[in-house]
Amino acid sequence: MDLIAIAIPFFLLALLVELGVDRYRATGYYRTTDAIGSLSAGILSTTFGYFTKLLPLIVWGFVLENFALFDMPLSLFDLSPVGLLLWITAAVAWDFCYYWFHRFSHEWSILWAAHAVHHQSEDYNLSTALRQTSTGFLFGWIFYLPLFLIGFPLEVLVTVNAVNLIYQFWVHTRHVGSLGPLDRWLVTPSNHRVHHARNSAYVDRNYGGIFIVWDRLFGTFEPERDDESVVYGVRKPLNTFDPFRANLSVYGDLWFDSRHTASWRDKLRVWFSRTGWRPADVAERYPERSATGDLESRYDPPLAPSIKAYVFAQFVVAATATLAIGAAAADSGLQAVLAPCAGLWITLYALAGFSDGSPRALTVERGRLLLIAIAAVVLYPGLVALMVAGYAAVSTIALELARNINNNNEIRSKPTVNYD
Ligand SMILES: [Zn+2]
Ligand SMILES: [Zn+2]
Repeated sequence: MDLIAIAIPFFLLALLVELGVDRYRATGYYRTTDAIGSLSAGILSTTFGYFTKLLPLIVWGFVLENFALFDMPLSLFDLSPVGLLLWITAAVAWDFCYYWFHRFSHEWSILWAAHAVHHQSEDYNLSTALRQTSTGFLFGWIFYLPLFLIGFPLEVLVTVNAVNLIYQFWVHTRHVGSLGPLDRWLVTPSNHRVHHARNSAYVDRNYGGIFIVWDRLFGTFEPERDDESVVYGVRKPLNTFDPFRANLSVYGDLWFDSRHTASWRDKLRVWFSRTGWRPADVAERYPERSATGDLESRYDPPLAPSIKAYVFAQFVVAATATLAIGAAAADSGLQAVLAPCAGLWITLYALAGFSDGSPRALTVERGRLLLIAIAAVVLYPGLVALMVAGYAAVSTIALELARNINNNNEIRSKPTVNYD
C-alpha cells in the first residue's frame, strides 16, 4: 500500500483550502509563479523518482538479507501491545535517523546540493512542502542503514518513512501560529518556519522530522520569536523557477569551484566540506559566486497577467497528467510512462521559462506543443493521438491570444516581458 499516493489528493485539497484562506485574509503568502515553481519541483521529484527509487530499496533489502543482527518477522508488527510498541520504536528510530540525515543535508556540501531544492522557495506555504529534490536517492539511504542492520522489516521501515514524510506536509504553513507545549515536543509550523529561514538569527536550526526533541537534545533548537520575522529562502538565491536548474544549481557551484581551484586537495574537499566553504583561491577570484547572507528581497520577475493565466492553465493540465501518469506507472510499468514523463518534464521547463520572463520562452513553448503533437501521433493509437494533438492545437491558439492581449491591451500592472 503506497501511503504517499493515497495522501496526494488530501495534500492537493489542503493546498486549495490554504490558498482560499490566503486570498480571503489577503495575506499574500502565495505567488502563482513561486507556487508553480515549487510544485514543478515536486512533480519532477515524483516522476523522476519512478526511475530511481528502486536503488535504495535494493541496497536496504540486501543489507537486511545478509547483515541483519536480529530476525524480526513482519508478523511481530501486529496490533497487539508488543506489536504497537515495535511500530512506535521503528517510527521513533526512523525519525532519529532522519534528524541526522537532515542535519548533514544542511551542514555538508554534497548533501546540501540535493536538499537545497526544498529550501529555495522564498515563500512559505503548503506548496513548499511538495518542493522536493530529485537527487535524494544518491545518498539519503545511507543514514537509515543502521535500522536495516538491526533487522527491522523493510515493509515496516518503508511505512514509517511514508508516515514521517506525510507528517511533515502540514507544518509548511504561515496560517498556524504558536501551539504552546506542542512546539516543544513536535515539529510544528512555528518551529519548521524557523528551519526555512535564511536570516542569521535562525539559519541551520530545527532539523527534526516529527519530533523536535532531537534538536533540543543535540543543541540545534531555536524557537520562533515575535521580534525576528523569518526571511524564507536560501543564502545563495536560485533566481529561477526552473525545476531542473533548482536541482542542479548547487552541484554546478561545487563543480565550478572544484574545477577552478588550483589545489588538488581542495578539488575534493569542496564536495565534503561544511556547506558554504570555498577554496580561498576561487573565493577570491569569483567572490560573486559566494552566498550573500541576509537578504530581504525576493526573486519576482514581472509577468503579464494573460501569460500568467496561460501558465496556470497549462500547469493544471500538467498536474492532472501527473496523476494519470502515476496511475499508469502503477498499472503498466515504467516503460509505458517514459514518453509521457519526458513530455511532462519539457512542459515544466517551458512553463518556468515564462515565469522567469525568459526571452526564449515563446519559442520553447511553441516547439514543445509541436513536439508533443508529433510524438502523440507517432507513438499512440488513434483516440489518444487525437486528444493530445487537439490539446496542442487549442494550447497554440490560447498562447497566441495570451500573447496578443499582453502586447495590445492595457492590462499589465507593471513592466512585463513582451513576447512579440
Ligand atoms: Zn532542511
Ligand atoms: Zn520544510
